[in-house]
Formats: sequence, structure tokens, C-alpha cells
Amino acid sequence: MKSSLLTLLVCPRCHHDLNLESEAAEGSEIMEGALTCGGCAERFPVVRGIPRFVGASLSAEKRATAAAFGYEWTHYSALTEADKNEFLAWIAPLSAEDFRDQVVLDGGCGKGRHIYLASQFGAGTVVGVDLSDAVEAAFKNTRELANVHVVQADLLELPFRNPFTLIYSVGVLHHLPVPKEGFLSLTRHVQPGGRISAWVYGKEGNRWIELFVDPLRKNVTSRLPRWITRCLCFPLAVVLFAALKLLYAPAKTRPGLKRLLPYSEYLCSISGYTFAENFWNVFDQLVAPTAYYHSREEVVDWFSTADLEEVTIERHNGNSWRGTGLARRR
Ligand SMILES: [Zn+2]
Repeated sequence: MKSSLLTLLVCPRCHHDLNLESEAAEGSEIMEGALTCGGCAERFPVVRGIPRFVGASLSAEKRATAAAFGYEWTHYSALTEADKNEFLAWIAPLSAEDFRDQVVLDGGCGKGRHIYLASQFGAGTVVGVDLSDAVEAAFKNTRELANVHVVQADLLELPFRNPFTLIYSVGVLHHLPVPKEGFLSLTRHVQPGGRISAWVYGKEGNRWIELFVDPLRKNVTSRLPRWITRCLCFPLAVVLFAALKLLYAPAKTRPGLKRLLPYSEYLCSISGYTFAENFWNVFDQLVAPTAYYHSREEVVDWFSTADLEEVTIERHNGNSWRGTGLARRR
């Protein structure tokens, strides 16, 4: 971790300031050491450059989800060309300009593809938080960026007060045991007047996934050894890849064909994926022990409970919701 992160951190248990003890450093990165709380005396280790706030008290469900996505993002850690446009589509109506000089938090940063982009968009400071071992990939992907920090922590027990002016969470909340709690936790760390943006799976448009894919995911593929899940994903990815290239890519410019094809809004949007992107997308759908599909009504309720203003909630790709709002100035 870079020592400049210390000004943003507090003890997640008692919210007291933390003291940093460095045991090994590489340039500006403290690679091994500890953060100790001046209040409750809790000690949080810094391991391989990353401050770790994940204790032994994590539930089995959270552990299983973290293990699944930790596997995915440490085995598929490369950043790709598709990342930028996808990210901007997930957080619209926010644009790259909205990141300029902001203090940004990524709630569930995975391998770090979006914190990398947030830095490229001109953010002042960017912090990526993830519960899983994906933080190892996020750290490697962003350690050269002086304004980017990676922290391993639970979204429900974040080691910050409310220093952030822009918080986003993309594709993460629907994998929490209680997604609304995760959303409300994030909103507690945004400054008055600051912005929050979230993208989640929709209930609308995903009925067939809930009926056919969900039982397979819950009862079979999320429980198998990962190498077997990967083997099962391969033939599915081959069939999907052929359909994307032969049907959905041409359908992007042929409205008649697009109307005939099932699930076309979403599948046309990913028709430019490489085979690797497509394969890991299939794996992502089948590996998570927990996944919820949210109705518009539920997402509206999250934003309203958080008392946000200037809220917009839009349907995205016919199968998901993207919402944004501002924390009220008190
Ligand atoms: Zn403490």
C-alpha cells in the first residue's frame, strides 16, 4: 500500500485512526507490515502490498462467493480493450469526465479493470475494495498508478469514514447475501453532494435464467471443483461464441434479425467479445454461489431508503438496472 492511503483509512470496528508499521517496502509501496488501531488496538496486516481487513468471522456464504470470484479474476487477470466501453455503459449517465479530480471508491473492484480506467479518466484518488483474492490481480494491474489503492475488505464493514465524492459498484451487489445492505453501506461512505452509481442484474428480462440457469448454478456448477466447472463451460462457450459471431454480430445492424433473436439486446452488446472474454463470462454466470435478480421496484427502494436525490434508474441491455443518485447535502 502507498502511505497516502492512510489519510483515508479508519478502523472498521471503532472508526479510530490507524497507525502504519512498515516492515518491507518496494519503492513507494509498503509490501509487508500492519495497520494498528489507536482505539481498540485491533491489528490489520498488510500482506503483499495490500491492507487486509477481512477477519475470521466471515460467513460461509461470503467465503464461498469470495473464493469463486477470487478464482475467476486471478485466472483471468488481463485488462482488455472491451473494458472501457462496457464500464461506461454500466455507469451511464456518468461519463469519463465525471471522474476528473474525484475521490473514487470501487465497491467490488475484482481484478482492477475499473479502478485502472477511473485513474485514466483523471480521478484524483481511486480506491478499489474487494473481499476476494482478486485484490492480488487488482494490485498487480494498478500498482504503477500513484493515485490508485487496493484494499481487501467486506463492503459491509468498510475501513473508511466518508471521504468519497464518487462511489460505484458494478456487477457486485447482486452477489451479496443481502444486496440492499451492501448498497446502503456504500452510500454511508459518500460525502454530502457526492455521487453513487450501481449496476445490478435485473429480474425483468432474465426469467429464463432464473428458471433454467439458476438451479444449475446453485446446485451444481458453483459447488464443483473449479477445473470441472471450467471444463463444462468450454462447450457452452464454443456454442455461444458461434452464435455471437454468426447471428448476434450481424444482427447489430439488421433490426429485423435482431427482433427475431432471443435475448438480443444483451447478446448483441457482447457480440464483439474475444473467445477468452466470452468463456470467462460464461464461467462468471455459473460459478457464483449467490446471485439475485432485482426488479426495478427493488432498485428504486434502495435509492429511496438511502435518501438520495437526482436519482435516475434505467434499464440496460434489456436485462439489468443501472442507477445513480446524489447524497443529500445536509
Ligand atoms: Zn479500532
